Amino acid sequence: MTEIAVVPGSFDPVTNGHLDIIHRAAKIFENVRVVVMHNSAKRGLFTAEERMALLHEATSHLPNVVIETSPGLLIDYVRSVNASVIVRGLRAVSDFEYEMQITSMNRMLDEEIETFFVMTKSQYSFLSSSIVKEVAQYGGDVSSLVPANVLKALHEKYENK
Ligand code: ADP
Repeated sequence: MTEIAVVPGSFDPVTNGHLDIIHRAAKIFENVRVVVMHNSAKRGLFTAEERMALLHEATSHLPNVVIETSPGLLIDYVRSVNASVIVRGLRAVSDFEYEMQITSMNRMLDEEIETFFVMTKSQYSFLSSSIVKEVAQYGGDVSSLVPANVLKALHEKYENK
């Protein structure tokens, strides 16, 4: 019943913190669907297609992980792939309130879908896509925080600006 798990996020871009959560989910669930959620109001640094390509490369060694994208409500996507579990990562206490709000809303929308929380390695507890972008933009070294393909993509983005 819980063989399919969905790992949703913006992934703009994927970091080692996200990858830590994806690895952990892939060990527990048979089939992991990482879904890049995008809405037209929120413009990121990378397009949804670019985020998917970066995720795809960074998870290519995990046979039970697939990368998809969805424009609408997460719950609709979860239902459409017959999943019953959402996996979210927790970094610090500061994530808790936001995650509780989303989880309660998703539960209201569909009582049957459970959210599982996975705690990241402590070395990634301060890590977010936003902080990576901020540091990379000014030429700071983020090589220990993102996979090699993301490092290259960040260099290319900021060189062309
Ligand atoms: P969102 O915009 O939905 O928060 P993110 O791409 O920022 O999407 O994050 C997707 C998921 O990954 C969330 O569950 C978030 O808490 C988790 N996450 C983000 N960064 C980290 C990290 N460094 N360690 C663990 N989990 C993380």
